Amino acid sequence: MGNGLHERKRTPGNSQQLRFWVQFVFILLCLWIGVEFTLWYFWHEGSGAIALLRPPGVEGFLPISALMTLYYFFLSGSIHPVHPAGAFILLAIILMSVLVKKSFCSWLCPIGTVSENIGEFGRKIFGRNFGVWRWLDYPLRSLKYLMLAFLVWVVFFGMDALSLQQFLDSPYNKVADVKMFLFFKNITQFSLVVIGILVALSMVIRNFWCRYLCPYGALLGITGLLSPFRITRNAENCIDCAKCAKACPNRIAVDRLNVVMSDECTSCMACVEACPVRDTLQLKASRKSRFAFKPAWVAASVIGIFLLVTGFAMLTGNWHSSVTEQEFSRRIKDIDNPIYQHNQGSAPPEDATSGEATTSGSAGSY
Ligand code: SF4
Ligand code: SF4
Repeated sequence: MGNGLHERKRTPGNSQQLRFWVQFVFILLCLWIGVEFTLWYFWHEGSGAIALLRPPGVEGFLPISALMTLYYFFLSGSIHPVHPAGAFILLAIILMSVLVKKSFCSWLCPIGTVSENIGEFGRKIFGRNFGVWRWLDYPLRSLKYLMLAFLVWVVFFGMDALSLQQFLDSPYNKVADVKMFLFFKNITQFSLVVIGILVALSMVIRNFWCRYLCPYGALLGITGLLSPFRITRNAENCIDCAKCAKACPNRIAVDRLNVVMSDECTSCMACVEACPVRDTLQLKASRKSRFAFKPAWVAASVIGIFLLVTGFAMLTGNWHSSVTEQEFSRRIKDIDNPIYQHNQGSAPPEDATSGEATTSGSAGSY
């Protein structure tokens, strides 16, 4: 170990700067969607001055509706038209994880980016981030899987194509994005306290939400197990400096593993970046494989898959909701009607307007 280290010293890369810029651009995109949606809402509510079209990308924040739309497609063979963009965004995210594990979490997810920066801020204040005891860590990590299991049980075992269609056509689902917006617009004290607690915990325990509570992360952890690529350590080159384990935001003991199989690995490449010895830590299909997935390729893969899948949805006319601007306008003005309560979610559509032609948005807009 360690012989000829000078010859094998690794030139520092820029994977983490690259990841920062990818996260930055994606969070800007999400902010733009948020601003566009807010202006759109106020216009339809009657108090806005700027008339904008609804950005379909907002459906990326409706994971349950997206999951139902995807499942409906598998059962019926047709793409349900109320929130198609959400389903394609979810599909893109799942495909990313099948190729390079939970890469969405560390390269694109806006919640992941915010959580990571809160953790970084906490590290600056307290001098370090803390972990929970191992005996508590495992049961806590299972919470997100329990939430996912509940969702899977309700959707995959409790609903057939007809009940899915009834939910997707329901008044509640048609305005699910508006309801989500109103949740934040009229946020209750209780919700603020819960968010405050999550922020405080994320300062102390890095990625608290992602590690313990995010069912999306749980889904990607499972689909990521299909990925052919894993962080692999060449034990012959390794000098046991443990820099990789220290750099890992998900507290994986990379320095003690030959292959990282963990469902928590997000292919962030921080460990590869931290490793001082060339060709010792790589993202590869197997330890013997000569082909290593470079950080730039991870970035290219997540961006490429996202653009390809969402672009396909746009080009094939499956991006914009079938709910027209006029229908949205009417529903927003009537949003306090009990038909928009969640427990009315699986009720049949209350009128025949669900089949109106798509008019919202321009073809290339997120
Ligand atoms: S093992 Fe490496 S790539 Fe995986 S999460 Fe940890 S630092 Fe990132
Ligand atoms: S960073 Fe990790 S893999 Fe690289 S030499 Fe140090 S202990 Fe070994």
